[in-house]
Amino acid sequence: MKTNFHTHSTFCDGRDTPEALAKAAVEKGFGILGFSSHSDMVADLAAYRAHIRNLAVLYCGRLDVRLGLEAELAKPYERGDYDYVIGSHHYITAPDGGFFAFDHTPQILKDGVRDHFGGDSAAFVKAYYAAVRRTLQLDFDIVGHADLVRKFNVKHPFFDESADWYRGEIEATADAIAASGKLVEVNTGAIARGWLDDAYPSPFFRSLLRARGVKFILSSDAHSADALDGAFDRFGSCEEFQAL
Ligand SMILES: [Zn+2]
Ligand SMILES: [Zn+2]
Repeated sequence: MKTNFHTHSTFCDGRDTPEALAKAAVEKGFGILGFSSHSDMVADLAAYRAHIRNLAVLYCGRLDVRLGLEAELAKPYERGDYDYVIGSHHYITAPDGGFFAFDHTPQILKDGVRDHFGGDSAAFVKAYYAAVRRTLQLDFDIVGHADLVRKFNVKHPFFDESADWYRGEIEATADAIAASGKLVEVNTGAIARGWLDDAYPSPFFRSLLRARGVKFILSSDAHSADALDGAFDRFGSCEEFQAL
């Protein structure tokens, strides 16, 4: 069944309304559509929950609408009664207390590494994975874009993904994810937006996770209705995906 649990609407930074996403999901043949607004971007989370629950009733029998949340793990969030929670890091806290959105623009990333990690890219990347491992104990279900730290590394290279230290980081993180029992999303969002030519996590990271028995779901991290199944044709048939 075609599913997508990672979508953004006008409740956060998405372009289209939940209604437009649901309509497109039916047209594209989805069986399940999950909404996962950013926990730190929704002005009124109670209104968001009520709206999506109502939409689920309206689409009953045509589309299984699920209420989710993309929790920003670098900030406090409420687990609440969401059907599922995706746990993601878009911000990093540096040892000097610096706090920045490393996935926002290449310039913010560059300035942040310079100002808060002494220009040491490896130190920044290690701090990211340490945060991912540390927050696996939090209450969420799906590990969101596990190696988001790679986002700008093709167009604006800042670290070597083939280095031994990097391999060590993702091996340690794969071990920790497997021990947590959480699902991992194969997130095609960076393909649709032109940053990368493959999903998060990378093929090598996925192979480490698969070897440890971790289960995957496929998601597009869509910020508009037309991106709902972006690059799904490349992944749907060659990976095994779990239903929620
Ligand atoms: Zn995200
Ligand atoms: Zn997202």
